Amino acid sequence: MNDFDLSLAHAKTPLQRSQPNILQLNIGKLCNLTCTHCHVNAGPARKEIMQKETIDQILPWFEASSIETLDLTGGTPEMIPDFRYLIEKVREFKKPRKIMTRLNATIISEPGFEWVPEFHAQNEIEIIASMPCYQPDNVNAQRGDGVFDRSIEAFQLLNKHGYGTEIPLHFVYNPNGAALPPAQEELQEDYKREMKKHFGIVFHELFCIANMPIARFASYLKRNNQLEEYMQLLIESFNPGTVDSLMCRDTINVSWTGEIFDCDFNQMLKLASFPEEPSKKVWEIDLESFPELPIRTGNHCFGCTAGSGSSCGGSLAS
Ligand code: SF4
Ligand code: SF4
Repeated sequence: MNDFDLSLAHAKTPLQRSQPNILQLNIGKLCNLTCTHCHVNAGPARKEIMQKETIDQILPWFEASSIETLDLTGGTPEMIPDFRYLIEKVREFKKPRKIMTRLNATIISEPGFEWVPEFHAQNEIEIIASMPCYQPDNVNAQRGDGVFDRSIEAFQLLNKHGYGTEIPLHFVYNPNGAALPPAQEELQEDYKREMKKHFGIVFHELFCIANMPIARFASYLKRNNQLEEYMQLLIESFNPGTVDSLMCRDTINVSWTGEIFDCDFNQMLKLASFPEEPSKKVWEIDLESFPELPIRTGNHCFGCTAGSGSSCGGSLAS
């Protein structure tokens, strides 16, 4: 039993799967940025991208399922050559599905990606976009020089296409270093006020997400001799009140090759949902019996349960 499982047992809060309702596809590690907090180690030189043959295997399985939401992540999902094909095919499903993408807004100003705002708006793709601060210094330090200005221009353009009003546009805040995020509601108020006042930008919700002590962020902490201290902070801040809302309970996370994980963090740590069959593909799952499968945990899970908790949809408890 790892320390996380011991904490769950001690708090009498078992972590159990419910019926899957979100299909989260990590369609590739390709990205135009190399952010310090990236748990995917994404970047411009990465070659791992979901191929059309894999998409064609997933689509009929997804259509036949009762899973209501498709959540696309990466890398930068829009950089995958068959991104638009995937969306268009899902939009042809008889039963409509909610589609969301984890957008890196700077992609909109890259040559060849001018189609993004209009395509997303036409297909009513909900956008969740990283914006670690409403001031340039923190954003540029964490994500690279010039990222703040390019993101602001992108959000202004998205607002013109109905994002932030008719179509959901959410921002993601994560701390710039080894600290827990502040209270989501208060920070959202500040963001809303400052983004409107200085840039005329409107958005729906702010999601506060803790940095996961894995991949590039773990290396960053190690370089700064902060890994142990950060892990200690996460462990000491364990909040059993977050467990019922953890995203791994109702999400199936899938790699660019179609393999199955309980969340994107487990994917990066190669903790497959089926430890005995790590190469099993998502289209081979029996959804009836899937909720009985145990969730694979590790000490990184303290990153999801610290303080107010953290998930792809922000805080989990007040
Ligand atoms: S955090 Fe997002 S935008 Fe930054 S390198 Fe990773 S995938 Fe790219
Ligand atoms: S890291 Fe993954 S498996 Fe662990 S608690 Fe978070 S979402 Fe669940």
